[in-house]
Amino acid sequence: MDKAVSFFDTSINFLKGVGPQRSEFLKKELNIFTFRDLFYFFPFRYVDRTRFYKIKEVNADMQHIQICGKITHIEIIGAKQKKRMVVDFEDDSGRIELIWFQGIKWMSKKLKVDSEYIVFGRPAIFMGKFSISHPSIEENTEENRKLVKGLQPVYSTTELLKAGGLDSTGIVKLQRALVPQAIEHIYENLPTYLISKLRLMPRKEAMRNIHLPIDNDTLVRAQQRLKFEELLFLQLSLLRSKIGREQTIKGFVFSKVGDNFNTFYNSYLPFPLTDAQKRVVKEIRQDMGAGIQMNRLLQGDVGSGKTLVALFCMLIALDNGYQCCLMAPTEILAIQHFATLKEFLKDMPVTISLITGSTKEAQRRVMHEELENGQMQIIVGTHALIEDRVKFKNLGLVVIDEQHRFGVAQRARMWQKNETPPHVLVMTATPIPRTLAMTLYGDLDVSVIDQMPPGRKPIKTLHKYDGKRSEVYAFIRSELDKGRQAYIIYPLIEESAKLDFENLLAGFEEVRKAFPAHVVGMMHGKIKFAEREKTMQAFAKGEIHILVATTVIEVGVNVPNASIILIESTQRFGLSQLHQLRGRVGRSEYQSYCILMTPYELGADARARVDIMVRTNDGFEISEEDLRLRGPGDITGTQQSGILNLKIADIARDGRILQQARIIATDILDEDRGLVMEKNRILSVELSKLDKEKGDWSRIS
Ligand code: ADP
Ligand code: MG
Repeated sequence: MDKAVSFFDTSINFLKGVGPQRSEFLKKELNIFTFRDLFYFFPFRYVDRTRFYKIKEVNADMQHIQICGKITHIEIIGAKQKKRMVVDFEDDSGRIELIWFQGIKWMSKKLKVDSEYIVFGRPAIFMGKFSISHPSIEENTEENRKLVKGLQPVYSTTELLKAGGLDSTGIVKLQRALVPQAIEHIYENLPTYLISKLRLMPRKEAMRNIHLPIDNDTLVRAQQRLKFEELLFLQLSLLRSKIGREQTIKGFVFSKVGDNFNTFYNSYLPFPLTDAQKRVVKEIRQDMGAGIQMNRLLQGDVGSGKTLVALFCMLIALDNGYQCCLMAPTEILAIQHFATLKEFLKDMPVTISLITGSTKEAQRRVMHEELENGQMQIIVGTHALIEDRVKFKNLGLVVIDEQHRFGVAQRARMWQKNETPPHVLVMTATPIPRTLAMTLYGDLDVSVIDQMPPGRKPIKTLHKYDGKRSEVYAFIRSELDKGRQAYIIYPLIEESAKLDFENLLAGFEEVRKAFPAHVVGMMHGKIKFAEREKTMQAFAKGEIHILVATTVIEVGVNVPNASIILIESTQRFGLSQLHQLRGRVGRSEYQSYCILMTPYELGADARARVDIMVRTNDGFEISEEDLRLRGPGDITGTQQSGILNLKIADIARDGRILQQARIIATDILDEDRGLVMEKNRILSVELSKLDKEKGDWSRIS
């Protein structure tokens, strides 16, 4: 094995075909430093180059075509943006044009008139003439024909690498030099019993075929094997850290349910809990009483009543003599939570306060003191809570309301506020897809509130084009006349902030003109904190009828009398954001409406998002669609977690394999939680190796 380590650690400079310049490029552009890095640099797709065609066979429906022929003419035409290189390419059956818009300089050096080439690309037809833009092109030599024929891997590369001769085919050449040697140093890392039970392809064969596939069926099996392996180790590692924590980290035992809980439940709870809320409170209560530190994810759709569940958990902590904190991702949400809790607790002997970035220093000092001497029982706040100078007498429960915004490291810092770590309850603002939860929060226990409070009417969602604005305004007016209130939302996205801001102000003026009989307020991030709070309160009290706002009101804001939300430029919002925004209405017995405004021209993705919103109110379903449309990398904040840096598996597409990996991992650990059985030794060796590579993320949550 030592030999294997040294082989894979060999610097990429020593690979045949990599000189000093290329090795620099590989390091800079692709982070490839060693044989290992290149070997685990997988193709992102494959193309079938089994067949050679004649030019006369080209038709517009073909995805790809591969032809051999001769360049008869090269010409660079146009200037600046319009500059392009047009190459005439012929075989004995006809002629086709090859066109480059980019990389003209080095392409024009590479290509020569009267030389023979192999060309591969996607044909297009324009004014009756066929052409291929940016084809891959190699000299037609015996060696190259052998190189490109068959099922071809495609590696991602960059302009700079291409200029250095390392386009995808260039990387294929390197892999051909590396893979046969590397395979010799590959060993199996899954136990034999698993391989035969699941009929997995052996690792050696899988690694060879991922780079040099024999045929499509073999490739698919190779991919399955490697995806499964990757996800299995991820799940084993998540589940093991969970088990490890349960064994080594003692938790506070909240043994009793006392006065605070009972008094609130019996005397002040304004409505009965839903069955789902009851079940979840019970799950959490048992967890906090078990002597093990709780790490639990609380999922529930927008409006399902997570805050109240959190409150009950906090009351249990209080009943056992501990303090609690509730941490929110934004100031406005922290304020809202504080107001909600304070209202719930107004007749209870419970001390509660709020700390955010805007809290005055003098006030802060008092709070710090009250937290340290235990006078303050519940504190609500933003990340200001994380600061080291915030100390507690005995913090027993941390509730984190997050929008994937808190990184793992931040969560870990809350942990360290006590010698015995507090129980942790993480709530997500919008539901997250099951597969994502299984990975991002895979080491947490999960509770789901799968039921809405009774009496809610499903929100009606409508799609309207900009041209229908006056009709929409008339509808809003009719709602206002019934005594309801409305939100009108404008996008304000960082990069185009100035333009968006002007749109928002213009929109505000327009709304004011259109609703002369009503009070219109405005809310956005640039408005001073005190002012914002005043506006929010005025809206909550019904003194403001229409609130024109940006997404600052996205999460958590709760004004039940608001029954209509109009979202301008809907195409610019993401799905989970739209779902959150829609969740601002439908919080009472009144029929509520969400109107999605867009221009007539809509991209396919934007249209898909609008359609999904119109079709369903189910946040879990929406989150699955979101994952499918965008892929896991783009779901807010998942990148920073580092957990999803997967090499080959794709959470959005490989849900089935993930599910299988989770089940198998659970079975393995149920039988052998320490992975000490001889048959599982191989797993434990591989896991410690991976842990070393990945660092410590899995140990904290
Ligand atoms: P979310 O899960 O989105 O955080 P909230 O906790 O803000 O939802 O609850 C949404 C609204 O529903 C609040 O006004 C809350 O007071 C109310 N609510 C919560 N639980 C119930 C219940 N069991 N019956 C009626 N209303 C409830
Ligand atoms: Mg909430």
